[in-house]
Amino acid sequence: MNESTQTETAAGTPTGYGYCSWHQRFAADVRLIDVIEQGSGPGGAHYACSPCREAYGLVPFADR
Ligand SMILES: [Zn+2]
Repeated sequence: MNESTQTETAAGTPTGYGYCSWHQRFAADVRLIDVIEQGSGPGGAHYACSPCREAYGLVPFADR
């Protein structure tokens, strides 16, 4: 087992491992779908995994 190369989770990364807002579980290869702008606070973002993008016809934020 080689755990020396850990993936960094940078904020705003369009792809990678993350929380899918549609099936509400962590999944690989999630894409940023929507960004929620808020006046105060960190705001939020909706990510969807590949199966959910196909199932719900979601278009990644970066592809619009
Ligand atoms: Zn999903």
